[in-house]
Amino acid sequence: MPRRLFIAGNWKMNTNAAEAVKLAKAVVEKLGKVQEMDIAVCPPFVYLAQVAAAVAGSRIAVGAQNCFYENNGAFTGEISAAMLKDVGCRYVILGHSERRHVIGEMDELINRKVLKALSDGLDVILAVGELLAERDAGTTLEVVSRQVKRGTEGVGKAEMARVTIAYEPVWAIGTGRTATPQQAQEVHAMIRSLLAALYGNELAQQIRIQYGGSVKASNAKELLACPDIDGALVGGASLKAEEFAGIVAGGMK
Ligand code: PEP
Repeated sequence: MPRRLFIAGNWKMNTNAAEAVKLAKAVVEKLGKVQEMDIAVCPPFVYLAQVAAAVAGSRIAVGAQNCFYENNGAFTGEISAAMLKDVGCRYVILGHSERRHVIGEMDELINRKVLKALSDGLDVILAVGELLAERDAGTTLEVVSRQVKRGTEGVGKAEMARVTIAYEPVWAIGTGRTATPQQAQEVHAMIRSLLAALYGNELAQQIRIQYGGSVKASNAKELLACPDIDGALVGGASLKAEEFAGIVAGGMK
């Protein structure tokens, strides 16, 4: 069975409450009935409930941008997977490069979050990707393999079916510099063969691998046409409903 494309908008630390609801409603208006692919928006924590209400009844799902690995307790400032479920999230992004490189999250911490999110019923978007220096040093495949392997350590086959990998070269995030379809496809194919080695070919063929890094309406079509690119994790361009809709249009057959 061909993989369904999955386009997710990562709003990062943007919008206020009114803007978040307005953007969510505009996304619903443009994309709320799209059957051909899966679409999600990932607003900041504090607007999740309002955005979930705004997209209710449409085909747009809601995701969070992070979560913690404990249920509750003395973890000031953290948010649990159960809390995210409670406010209507289906997905959570974990291991985003801004969390790895700005906040300092390591593979082991990300892995604990992945395991907890999956066991609490959230579907995970696990983001991986190399720094420019790592690409220049020729270590892209090594870095990305390590992030995928360590990030998914201990995840069983049944739960792995609820993981999407987002390949996001750090040098392409928010820079306007997109990986070429060939550069992206090469890494996506490598990730899929790694998944096949870890989980068997049948499951590896089902797991979706999104590309992320300056995806916009004008470059989505050629990226999404690559055989191992199964969607996009979109930052900046997801803040404009029109542009986000243009990316979805790029994935239509
Ligand atoms: C992202 O935040 O995951 C991302 C890819 O950002 P941008 O599309 O702005 O490069």
